[in-house]
Amino acid sequence: MGNGWFNRSGLQLPWQAQLTPQQAARQLGITRRDLLRDATGLALGSALMSASPFIHAATAAKKRKVVVVTFGGGARDQETFAPQGQVNIPHMLGELIPQSSFFTQVTNQGILGHYVATASLATGVYETLNNFSAVPPDHPTIFEYFRKDLIRPASDAWVVAPSNGFNRIGESESRGFGPGFGARVVLPKHLLSAASSGSRTDYDHLLHDNYETPLYAPQLAGGEFELQQLERVLRLSVDDFTAHARTLSSPDELSLYIARRLMREQSPSLLWITMHDIDVAHSGAFSLYVDAIRRTDRLCAELWSTIQQEPEYANNTTLLILPDFGRDADEDPGGNGFQHHRTGDPASRTTWMMALGAGVRHGVVYDNPVQSIDLVPSIGAMMGFQASQSRGKLIRELL
Ligand SMILES: [Zn+2]
Repeated sequence: MGNGWFNRSGLQLPWQAQLTPQQAARQLGITRRDLLRDATGLALGSALMSASPFIHAATAAKKRKVVVVTFGGGARDQETFAPQGQVNIPHMLGELIPQSSFFTQVTNQGILGHYVATASLATGVYETLNNFSAVPPDHPTIFEYFRKDLIRPASDAWVVAPSNGFNRIGESESRGFGPGFGARVVLPKHLLSAASSGSRTDYDHLLHDNYETPLYAPQLAGGEFELQQLERVLRLSVDDFTAHARTLSSPDELSLYIARRLMREQSPSLLWITMHDIDVAHSGAFSLYVDAIRRTDRLCAELWSTIQQEPEYANNTTLLILPDFGRDADEDPGGNGFQHHRTGDPASRTTWMMALGAGVRHGVVYDNPVQSIDLVPSIGAMMGFQASQSRGKLIRELL
């Protein structure tokens, strides 16, 4: 595992423990330009771009679909897009990056817990809810803006989420939004545990709920997907579902399987998939963490390939992939390197985003800073709704 970053001449720039957080953040910003160095030969982007390649005709906007994937939970650059990590992401690097706009500097200035950070990504506000409680976000979610502004049915916005703790992410309790306007949430593990009751041991590898607090498994309430809808909504028999689950190696593979069924059967215009296998890093096993990154890399490419093949999605879908946040730097004395995300250091707050598909420029790298909360208003501008309470800014390079 490498330490630190590489400058343009290939000399390593080690992190120095005596740097102040401000100095370290500045250093991280400078050296982030070397993400993707020597990998693809892409040109550095510019904020001064020509007109969007996407035609903003009403008919086009109506058909436009957006799929968001959180590449998580918690992945560092040095195991992904930094030069020493690129070996772990062959699919994104070889197949997706050439078609992508890539943002090298996405910062999360909120609380670094997976549920609260994902909720913040979904509301465009740094939420302050308790990460380990099953509560809805305080501010309206992207799903509510989308459905209310564009008058879309419940079937048009879905979330596929990793653990029971995410069951409230589809809908806030904000006045004027909330009940009735949220996304429907599928919890594949919850579905599998209900479908396989009595034979849990066949699926234990898929049912791990949470890598940080193994005893935390909140009671479900809210808009979660009910087992009886397996057949009606996904047109999947319990037997077929459990038989297929037996062939899968991880919870994120199960999530992708469910997401594909949703795309086929419901074709939501707004689909949000939260990957979580990478958070196995909390176990302290570096090899499991890297295996999970490699798997997530493969699953992202498989999802893109599904998007290309599904008639409802091909050519009118924008895919956005970004980690919820990073993980601690090896050199931070307050942490234990890749294992956790506790220090709030620049490495744990700074990550990347790739965008590809409809309306996105191919093969452009941007190193201007954007924030996690900028995602929602930017998707709003793409799809034609207003994220009125978001505190993020428009990412103009995506429009
Ligand atoms: Zn974690």
